[in-house]
Amino acid sequence: MRDRFELRETDAGGRIGELRVPRAGVTVETPALLPVINPNIDTIAPRRLAEEFGAEALITNAYIIHDTPDLREQALSEGLHGMLDFPGAIMTDSGSFQLAEYGEISVTTEEILSFQAGIGSDIATPVDLPTPPDAPRERAAADLETTQERLTIAEGVDVGDTLVSAPVQGSTHLDLREDAARHADGTDLDVFPIGAVVPLLNDYRYAETVDVVAAAKRGLGADAPVHLFGAGHPMMFALAAAAGCDLFDSAAYAIYARDDRYLTVRGTRHLADIDYLPCSCPVCLEHTPDELRALPDKPREKALAAHNLHVSFAEIRRIREAIREGNLLELVEARARSHPAMLSGYRALLEHADQYERSDPVSKGTFFYVSAESAARPEVLRHHRRLERLSVPDSLLLAEGDVSGGEYDEVWTLRPPFGPVPPALVQSYPLNTDPPERPDRAIRVAALRGVARLAEANPDSELAVAHEGWPPGILAALPDRVETIDTK
Ligand SMILES: [Zn+2]
Repeated sequence: MRDRFELRETDAGGRIGELRVPRAGVTVETPALLPVINPNIDTIAPRRLAEEFGAEALITNAYIIHDTPDLREQALSEGLHGMLDFPGAIMTDSGSFQLAEYGEISVTTEEILSFQAGIGSDIATPVDLPTPPDAPRERAAADLETTQERLTIAEGVDVGDTLVSAPVQGSTHLDLREDAARHADGTDLDVFPIGAVVPLLNDYRYAETVDVVAAAKRGLGADAPVHLFGAGHPMMFALAAAAGCDLFDSAAYAIYARDDRYLTVRGTRHLADIDYLPCSCPVCLEHTPDELRALPDKPREKALAAHNLHVSFAEIRRIREAIREGNLLELVEARARSHPAMLSGYRALLEHADQYERSDPVSKGTFFYVSAESAARPEVLRHHRRLERLSVPDSLLLAEGDVSGGEYDEVWTLRPPFGPVPPALVQSYPLNTDPPERPDRAIRVAALRGVARLAEANPDSELAVAHEGWPPGILAALPDRVETIDTK
């Protein structure tokens, strides 16, 4: 058991957790956003990140510090916290990204881990091998072997109280990702970044990102804090959190600001195209788009970076609140409506409903059916599974509205998208929901799938469905022996 990470609340795959970071003496609440600080570029001062934005942790690159003589000296003498002037937890990256970009780097895992611990990093990273998406399987497997050797080396390096991350690689080969995660979970390392997903995210391949995360989650224990390495766009935080990611790092806030790009939870806008600012952060309250455009380069970049961070941290808070309220998937559904790639990502998540059903709480607020995708949510799957265990009389009427049972032994409610609901469960979550008055096809098909499941589990019971004008094309999904009665 990893005692450094404690789960407080869960919803679908999302969790509110507390990551204790012993070296910094702080506890980071997750999901958390770690702004990326480039020690060579002054965008927003780390002290300001903590005080104005509430950042409990940030991430910086130990390889850049290691390879820049002035910074290296300063970091070794003052420590990272002194050098950056940041009171929270500091995570350091090892240079794997540089390795991926430029081929070779000049340090070993032992050296860079000892260096990270020496400059006071709270969460250090070994030099893993990030394999890009779509790499041939042989290469991904060979890279993975090297990464795993380095994790073994990392376990043996004395880093004191510094936590050490165990990156999970494997490219887009899902079985490799799962194996990599299982191996990483078996080490005594502490934080689990899912690596090399940036090219997927940059190409809006959110569905494949979700598949990669789901594969990694299958190999990791529930007590493993998961970091989606390089995911910094607030549009996809809710989706990634629902898939089980606890930590995000954003370089996007600064990189986008440099190009006059303005982040929103519905996508990215270019400052040149904006007539109205759809945000209430201090930057957007104090400026009109024209005023922002009129600022000199550096102040404009800083103002946009501040807005980008505000919108990102606000989304993290919204996600935590949604997890607490039990409506994280409703938030993901809302985000899924902003971009086709997000919709694909959400559909990919629902393809793993079986996996996420296990961590989904049995009881939470109210289930809202807000799109055809809602019919595939883990709660629906769970109810259909439960139907097999219910005891069913010899003859049973499943009725959509109020109808008299007549010659049937019992009448149960037919409640889309769940299907058959016995009287004792009508008021319990998630069955105590009102389906939309104008139902779509998916909600009825899901309900009938539940009826079919009940019929299959009780071959000797006589079943009938009383519906209010459902089209024959939908009712055709029922087994032949289930009688249908149109009450409309
Ligand atoms: Zn703003």
